[in-house]
Amino acid sequence: MSMIKVKKLNKYFGDLHVLKNIDLNVEAGEVVSVIGPSGSGKSTLLRCLNRLEEPSSGDIIFEGISVMDDEHHDINELRQKMGMVFQQFNLFNHMNVMENITLAPIKLKNMDKDQAKKVAEDLLKKVGLLDKAEAYPAQLSGGQKQRIAIARALAMSPDVMLFDEPTSALDPEMVGDVLKVMKDLAAEGMTMVIVTHEMSFARDVADRVIIMDEGNIIEEGNPKQIFNAPKHPRAKDFLSRVL
Ligand code: ADP
Ligand code: MG
Repeated sequence: MSMIKVKKLNKYFGDLHVLKNIDLNVEAGEVVSVIGPSGSGKSTLLRCLNRLEEPSSGDIIFEGISVMDDEHHDINELRQKMGMVFQQFNLFNHMNVMENITLAPIKLKNMDKDQAKKVAEDLLKKVGLLDKAEAYPAQLSGGQKQRIAIARALAMSPDVMLFDEPTSALDPEMVGDVLKVMKDLAAEGMTMVIVTHEMSFARDVADRVIIMDEGNIIEEGNPKQIFNAPKHPRAKDFLSRVL
């Protein structure tokens, strides 16, 4: 069974048709990279998965249940199971790192404080920032903030992690540390959907690459095939500009 099954998904913003009959499956444990030109609908697709955007039509089945089925899929529960990491980190700036990571587990999962702290410490170790537990976001570099944002999402034990250009806002020297954390996660078997401009990361880490263009998936396959021998003319054109 696919973890995520997108069926004939359409999204309009007013008259603008942003996602056009998207079909997509994500298997448990799979790492899917979504690439494509700016404005092609990558973020909107990702945001429809956890209903940060409302699909206009079509369906998204997550773990066997439609995300549109409010009776059987509580939207808050859905968002807990789909961890999301944004380009702009979205940390709570008035809270320190430990508070950022433990807030949701305590509030939404009723985890007791000590246990939440223990979970957070393990995750901070994992992202290499245990020494920053008491720091505030303003005291961190972009790369550190993003690794904290990943730890915060992981603290809810999500079944899938959605990344929307997690390294695009970072200075080049920060990118490697964040990609390393993501690489480790992939190696542990985490299911991941990653919108990225990091072509070498997509090539090395993804099980499958999807190229979007003007609201369509124009090409999809294993990274080798996609990067070495794209078939669609617009895929060729896009790759020739970014590789
Ligand atoms: P990408 O992530 O591939 O750059 P997006 O999904 O952000 O593309 O955007 C796809 C299209 O939808 C773009 O034309 C963008 O301007 C438009 N769009 C995105 N979000 C909104 C919104 N909230 N309201 C209106 N138009 C939007
Ligand atoms: Mg985007």
